[in-house]
Amino acid sequence: MAKLVWFRHDLRTLDNPMLNYACRSGQPVYGCYLITAQQWQRQNHSPLRNQYVLNRLSALRQELADCHIPLIIKSCDDYDGCLYELEQLCMQLAIDEVVMGAEYGLWERQRDEKIHAALATQSIPMTRFTSQVLVAPGEVTTAQGQPYRVFTPFSKAWKAQLSLHELSPLAAPKQHPQNTKIDEGLSDAQLTRFAGGESCWPVTQEQVLNHLNLFVKQKVSHYQQWRDFPSEPATSRLSVALAHGVFSTAQALHLLQQSYPEQYLDPKTGPGCWLNELIWREFYIQLLAQFDTISQGLAFKSETRAIQWEQNPAALTAWQQGKTGIPIVDAGMRQLNEIGWMHNRVRMICASFLCKNLWLDWREGEKYFMSKLIDGHLASNNGGWQWSASTGTDAAPYFRVFNPISQSQKFDPQGDYIRHWVNELASLSAAQIHDPDNTVRQKVNYPQPLVDLKQSRKQAIARFAAQTKRD
Ligand SMILES: Cc1cc2nc3c(=O)[nH]c(=O)nc-3n(C[C@H](O)[C@H](O)[C@H](O)COP(=O)(O)OP(=O)(O)OC[C@H]3O[C@@H](n4cnc5c(N)ncnc54)[C@H](O)[C@@H]3O)c2cc1C
Repeated sequence: MAKLVWFRHDLRTLDNPMLNYACRSGQPVYGCYLITAQQWQRQNHSPLRNQYVLNRLSALRQELADCHIPLIIKSCDDYDGCLYELEQLCMQLAIDEVVMGAEYGLWERQRDEKIHAALATQSIPMTRFTSQVLVAPGEVTTAQGQPYRVFTPFSKAWKAQLSLHELSPLAAPKQHPQNTKIDEGLSDAQLTRFAGGESCWPVTQEQVLNHLNLFVKQKVSHYQQWRDFPSEPATSRLSVALAHGVFSTAQALHLLQQSYPEQYLDPKTGPGCWLNELIWREFYIQLLAQFDTISQGLAFKSETRAIQWEQNPAALTAWQQGKTGIPIVDAGMRQLNEIGWMHNRVRMICASFLCKNLWLDWREGEKYFMSKLIDGHLASNNGGWQWSASTGTDAAPYFRVFNPISQSQKFDPQGDYIRHWVNELASLSAAQIHDPDNTVRQKVNYPQPLVDLKQSRKQAIARFAAQTKRD
């Protein structure tokens, strides 16, 4: 008999509780990954994200081969097809247990329940571990046993129970007894062909961990000071690797703890501030796990569900293409369109502009981001959008509307970020670039602002206030 480890959002061999558990059994261990292309499409996953996953799978296959564990990669259209593939594998490989990391979206939970029930009829247990987050959803609750809806108390409670968790990362399995040669499904050549090219983000575990190490050793001390400045290389850019579980929260935290024992829990320091961002990720994942409305696309605050957002396809297209006439917004959207990643401060500015100034539905923005982001992840993307739209838990209060021009002057004072992404404005001075006057706009062929910022801000606040009063 043998164990089957089903990889999903935990594409790593280090600190992998599923692999560790399966290998401790002493039985042969097989890994598998199921590509569900139609499901990815339905969930608006971006081509760059898919390319990253496919590239990462080739690397993971090699990393597992070093431990003598084969990775079988199969393709099935959607989640319904997963059961068939797993049943086939269980039969062919004489599997007596399927092991996996928990997933938290509603559709993923429903898929897993179905598979669990079906495998149970064949006496094959399905064992789930916590691998995407350090603290499993439901483990940190309020005194009343309810999930936290506000970040600050959640993060305090999260930190308070850190001592209960083992932070030293689990080692990769030692060379496991050699498995007999089996059909590994899609070949590396097929994966490369489907991926359509090499990802320019680090894909091997070694590259990612080197990147993490360098960031923690050389940059995290200045993180708090520079993280909001999009032209500075001050943030880790590890969101892609975290979204696919190439390393775990525990691995990052362990490194922080070892390197900055006095600082890592203090949010006023660089290391502590960075840890807070990792906790935001955990916060949004626990919300996803505990509130089905997130997967269902409903506003978290029920009183905001009746808001009548405007339908304005032309404005939506201008925003998507980075042609709104607001330089910082256009720079962000063009960065997103070009490299599939956007700086966090600019994500907030672009999201706020869509919802509060253009009064367009946050779900349009969420969908578009997902279709472009290489680090697209339902929990964080939805969390970021609902925060910006003031419809989410612990969201920005509705009357706090970002002014994109003053945000730009504050966080991109020399205009370097704008200059890099908006070609037409590359020759403008720092004084002109944040909000060029009409003559300059005409001269460089840059559009007029799509909306009046002051007026649209006032209107958004009035609309929110009216909605809140009505309820
Ligand atoms: C509208 C909007 C949409 C977003 N969509 C996503 C998304 O789809 N996927 C995603 O990973 N992040 C998303 N974020 C959060 C954040 O913008 C990115 O995680 C961050 O920009 C990634 O850059 P980094 O790796 O350099 O982050 P760092 O500043 O180095 O932070 C370290 C890690 O902490 C996590 N993190 C940081 N900020 C946040 C946050 N606000 N919420 C949740 N986790 C955070 C990320 O995993 C990140 O890699 C979104 C934010 C907004 C405002």
